Amino acid sequence: MCRTEIRSTDRTDKERGVPGRDPSPASHEFPARTAPRMASPGELDRAVADCRACPRLVAWREEAARVKRRAFRDWEYWARPVPGFGPADAPLVIVGLAPAAHGGNRTGRAFTGDPSGDAMYAALYEIGLASRPTAIHRDDGLELYGVRITMPVHCAPPDNRPTTEERDTCRPWLARELDLLRPTLRAIVVLGAFAWQALLPVLASAGWQVPRPRPVFGHAAEVVLPDPAGGSPLHLVGSYHPSQRNMSTRTLTPAMLRDALRRGADLAGLPTRLRHDGPDS
Ligand code: SF4
Repeated sequence: MCRTEIRSTDRTDKERGVPGRDPSPASHEFPARTAPRMASPGELDRAVADCRACPRLVAWREEAARVKRRAFRDWEYWARPVPGFGPADAPLVIVGLAPAAHGGNRTGRAFTGDPSGDAMYAALYEIGLASRPTAIHRDDGLELYGVRITMPVHCAPPDNRPTTEERDTCRPWLARELDLLRPTLRAIVVLGAFAWQALLPVLASAGWQVPRPRPVFGHAAEVVLPDPAGGSPLHLVGSYHPSQRNMSTRTLTPAMLRDALRRGADLAGLPTRLRHDGPDS
């Protein structure tokens, strides 16, 4: 490569008007420069899985894969960003927080292989939106019907707490994913305050009319966001996150989770059916 082709560090390619150059997956700019070019959720998922834009999270996800948990010592961890999961024409989206170090970061699929996922997929199965009630590994045959699961941060963070900068760096992936889903998207179930706060700016930037002051997160909170361009409104439904802590303290019960998901499905126009109407054990 001749000397003059080497990038200047004081201006970005965009600022210099250089089209089409691919930033390194380890570049802070990788999500913002790559996500808008993705033409389908599948293409986006593949690009997400290559991302190394957040050094702290890359180190953490790979460290978890090296150290492992005793119960998973025979596993080869995924140790990469965990993409969204579910059909590309889903009317309902579930937005969580981030993968768990020994859950999604191990299995490579959202909410798969950890207690949060056990609660989530059991509830989805119960209302007829999943083909099976358990999620063990990414080749277990699980299918989702009309619902896609994604997250505002695609890498496992220490203590389940991404920084504001990491959330903002990852935002273009979520923005593009929702943009690609927009033709069919009618409702989003938002799991927890972090996801709620991460999502609202994305929706506002995408043109949805987000009320001011911004609606406050709460379990069973509902907001309707009109589309000023005349498209279908978008319904948001809040739910506590099905974290192990929330479930064990019964801050969120299986029935509460099932009802929130069912409400989201109703608002999205998805038919649901209750396979089991027993106690919420
Ligand atoms: S959190 Fe998002 S932006 Fe950061 S490395 Fe992972 S996929 Fe990339």
